[in-house]
Amino acid sequence: MNIEILTIGDELLTGHTVDSNASYIAEKLLQIGHQVKYMSSTGDSLEQMEEAFRLALNRAQVVITTGGLGPTDDDNTKKAIVKVFKRNLIFHEEVLEDLKKRYAIRNMEMPAINQNQALLPQGAKFFPNKHGSAVGLCISENGRTFISLPGVPREMEQILDDEVLPYISKMPDSDSITVLKLRTTGVGESKLSELINPKLKLESSIKLAYLPTYSGVDLRIIATASTKDESDSLALSLKRHLESTVGKYIYGIDSDKLEEIIGQLLKDNDKTIATAESCTGGYLGSIITSIAGSSNWFIGGIISYDNEVKKNLLQVDKTIIEQHGAVSEECAEAMAVGCRKLLDTDYALSITGIAGPDGGSDEKPVGTVYIGLATKREKDKAIVKKFSLFTDRNANRIRASYAALELLRREILDIQ
Ligand code: ATP
Ligand code: MG
Repeated sequence: MNIEILTIGDELLTGHTVDSNASYIAEKLLQIGHQVKYMSSTGDSLEQMEEAFRLALNRAQVVITTGGLGPTDDDNTKKAIVKVFKRNLIFHEEVLEDLKKRYAIRNMEMPAINQNQALLPQGAKFFPNKHGSAVGLCISENGRTFISLPGVPREMEQILDDEVLPYISKMPDSDSITVLKLRTTGVGESKLSELINPKLKLESSIKLAYLPTYSGVDLRIIATASTKDESDSLALSLKRHLESTVGKYIYGIDSDKLEEIIGQLLKDNDKTIATAESCTGGYLGSIITSIAGSSNWFIGGIISYDNEVKKNLLQVDKTIIEQHGAVSEECAEAMAVGCRKLLDTDYALSITGIAGPDGGSDEKPVGTVYIGLATKREKDKAIVKKFSLFTDRNANRIRASYAALELLRREILDIQ
């Protein structure tokens, strides 16, 4: 089934609003087995909308629009529907009554202009809007289904989730799609593809995509077949291949987060962790504590930004800093060891580096980061890994924090 998402609004075309509606709808459709074929955006003018509606109806069986359903003069979606589908607007008493009731509950008088919201194209099915005044519309004609939703994300999402997705699920559809995401970290996409590809021949019914993020690379599998069993088994065979070739980098599936997996590992093993952060400024502690229940494994963290804090709180020897610098293997080791002792935990992670954009040198360019992991096994030593990240300060802070979590994951699971 060809589906097109068509978002409406001048603010989308000027770049002032990020088109989050389109990605929300696409993701939700994928979850119920439909991959969107086209996404487009158009402006608020009647002419632009008419043209875009006709184009979409030409190439897609299902068109979902958002925006322009409000009661004001600049909201032209219903007018464009009237023109394209050659239907009149019909007054719906029940829609108006419902609106009036909602205003009455809040002790407000309904603005007269909202009467427009009860005018709907003849023969259109409508979907109630729990958060606003514009109902969603659905017109079926000549094998095409045209669905219009409000632009306000909260309203659009409610109608999509409660009404549109169940409606689309019931439409006759020839294909079943299985979507799976394997989440990797600690490895770049080129290396991944080198490891995966030589042994891989994919049929056209199965797609593998590499999706890099700051925290790792996701491997997304989309398998299409005539039945659910077939698409599931296609996806599963590729999943097995990925596990056998790059399994050690895979920390989870679908919406799993590395910080969540780490939390679970620490909890299952009854272990605790502390952090000593320099260039990440607390970001690592922040992602660890974003997981509910993290007080069970996270004891605390020290943001040792200034060298005095490294020396005074973490007991980093001043000669280490004098001889090797604060961004060094030796300093990362001393930070992790000092932090673990100070907070008396099973593990301590340390991060010291040059986040950028300034502060680099030939010897230690921007992006140089040392990450240390102290364990109870060897009380005065730590594993230290050097990373050469990039020049973007924020990206480096995120990448370094996830690299630290990955170092810990490998330690706990004994992955070399
Ligand atoms: P209203 O009744 O509020 O006028 P509407 O259905 O006419 O609703 P628009 O006027 O097009 O919708 O958009 C309302 C607001 O919703 C916009 O100001 C914008 O903030 C947000 N919005 C619209 N389209 C999108 C989109 N595609 N992605 C994210 N936000 C959007
Ligand atoms: Mg509007």
